[in-house]
Amino acid sequence: MNHRLPLTRLSQGQLNLLKTCPRKFQHIYLEQLGTHVSPEQQEHLTWGSRFHLIMQQRELGLPVESLVREDAQLQYWVTALVNAAPEILTKAPQTFRESEHCRTLSFQGYLLTVIYDLLIEDKNCAEIIDWKTYPQPKDRQWLAQDWQTRLYLYILAETSDYLPEQISMSYWFVKSQSGPQSLKFIYNQAQHEQTRQHLTQQLIRLTEWRECYETGEQFPQVELSTGRCRDCNFAVRCHRTSENPAVSSKDWLLNLADIPEVSL
Ligand code: SF4
Repeated sequence: MNHRLPLTRLSQGQLNLLKTCPRKFQHIYLEQLGTHVSPEQQEHLTWGSRFHLIMQQRELGLPVESLVREDAQLQYWVTALVNAAPEILTKAPQTFRESEHCRTLSFQGYLLTVIYDLLIEDKNCAEIIDWKTYPQPKDRQWLAQDWQTRLYLYILAETSDYLPEQISMSYWFVKSQSGPQSLKFIYNQAQHEQTRQHLTQQLIRLTEWRECYETGEQFPQVELSTGRCRDCNFAVRCHRTSENPAVSSKDWLLNLADIPEVSL
């Protein structure tokens, strides 16, 4: 570890960004260049923040009527979720529950930070719940490989007495056409070891890139063939403007998923 580099907080969103394109991470987090958020994305983000706030208020036993009264759509989806997930949203005895539950783990010189929308623990198991306000992805594997799933499970196993096999994570896609849908990921020791290895490799690379950056070298760019530059705000800066600038709906969804609904 290089002691000249200060301890840095890292979230799942930042790890996903590193995976998407290291140069983009450099632009956003080291050079603090802003990215353009379309009005459509902004509206979605605002809606997502309000939804998360309501679920937090509800969990704290605070009234939410005044928050949903003005927004029939919000009220509709909150009610739909409460009806679809009574086993999660009804408080059972002998359990620990907390919304917006924050944990950190010191790892390879970084402070890995997670915020669980809801954590439910009992004697034998623990479940992380995450509310998503974008549609359920068709590809379950995409979500399994996302750093949010991997980091959230990893940190809970590392910072609690639960075995990986006692831990799970469920995403609730609250605005699915046919009503709220969930996807559950069960954890195990083999996945835990694999995540540890990948995390170690990624953070070693990040430290090397940061050290090189201090000497004037840029972070690596993603391969042109991935097509990720096509819809990237930094295409001009990166001299990657020859690609088709059209953004497909799939890219829009992936971009949206990169933006945390509740920022760290
Ligand atoms: S234009 Fe391409 S290389 Fe540059 S930051 Fe965006 S994705 Fe990365």
